[in-house]
Amino acid sequence: MEADPDQKEKEREKAADSQSSGVEEEDSGAAGESEMEYMRNLLARTLGLGSDKPEKILDALTLEGVAKFMLSDKCKNVVCMVGAGISTSAGIPDFRSPGSGLYANLQKYDLPYPEAIFEINYFKSNPEPFFTLARELYPGQFKPTVCHYFLRLLKEKGRLLRCYTQNIDTLERVAGLQQDDLVEAHGTFFTSHCVGMFCRKEYPLSWMKDKIFTDLIPKCEKCSSVVKPDIVLFGESLPARFFSCLKSDFQQIDLLIIMGTSLQVQPFASLVGKVPTNVPRLLINKEKTGESGSFMALLGFGCGMDFDSEKAYRDVAWLGNCDDGCMALADLLGWKKELEDLVKKEHAAIDAKSAEEAARGVSGAQSASQAKEEKAPSAGTKGEKKQD
Ligand SMILES: [Zn+2]
Repeated sequence: MEADPDQKEKEREKAADSQSSGVEEEDSGAAGESEMEYMRNLLARTLGLGSDKPEKILDALTLEGVAKFMLSDKCKNVVCMVGAGISTSAGIPDFRSPGSGLYANLQKYDLPYPEAIFEINYFKSNPEPFFTLARELYPGQFKPTVCHYFLRLLKEKGRLLRCYTQNIDTLERVAGLQQDDLVEAHGTFFTSHCVGMFCRKEYPLSWMKDKIFTDLIPKCEKCSSVVKPDIVLFGESLPARFFSCLKSDFQQIDLLIIMGTSLQVQPFASLVGKVPTNVPRLLINKEKTGESGSFMALLGFGCGMDFDSEKAYRDVAWLGNCDDGCMALADLLGWKKELEDLVKKEHAAIDAKSAEEAARGVSGAQSASQAKEEKAPSAGTKGEKKQD
């Protein structure tokens, strides 16, 4: 799709002369406006009010429509929600979610029930199965996908407000997103902490990696308690950052892009409903998801996705794999070449690093992880200080 330069110009003019008429989201009084908008949406959501025809933001409920909107001045803050589906093409197994086929192979651990392996209470009494599994599933190489680099491009274009990820594989960081760009809703393998309540010593990924492949159970050097990767196990609460970020992010959001998640896990999935009613939502996924059940619709909660009904006005589904979806969107945005070049360049750098490590006789898995770690901090990650 061609970006319509006239359109942009028109919008700029409109912005310039609407000051007197006080229309819509201008820079002047933006704070007040957004507060009003927030209150309106809050009321609309909680009371089922404001159900009069919402403003139509997209020209068409298609990828083209979304791309056109993204190229306009109205789309400054894009929030992305991503899940396991964006990492499958990188060969990362869906580490935690049930139904991935993982649970079928767990008999050997003699667990009371399969999910126990990812439960914090079980982990505290018997961490061995978790670490055995971690070793088995440890990716041989960490190579972000086209989709991850699309996120990076969004950031470089100044459009990415935040990426909320369910993934713990750290590929967003490897692709060049920084800590501030991310909410790792289910935690991350990037750092680990001693579980000792009064110790909580932090360890980097390289340390955890070594332990996983040498000792069976990583123990704290200070107090000998078990050290756990900072992933959120069942029975643990989500990082405080998840809740603090969403409060402000969803007041500023102009577009939500949901990729590679079936929106089954709460409270992550509930983010979809936190988006103001006039903000478009694009789903790039293998199948449609997040649609509101008839029961919810009956109660007047219009927060579920609506791609197809006659009332549909802002939700777009692009079905297929995330890499293809991102490339198609990049093409419409005029970013295709840039995205292809970025992927090529970054993948070549990762391959070169791996080859170099291999030549030095480091094991394949190890070299890959080191490549990743050297990469991530250079992308500007503030390594030491733990999140909340
Ligand atoms: Zn400790």
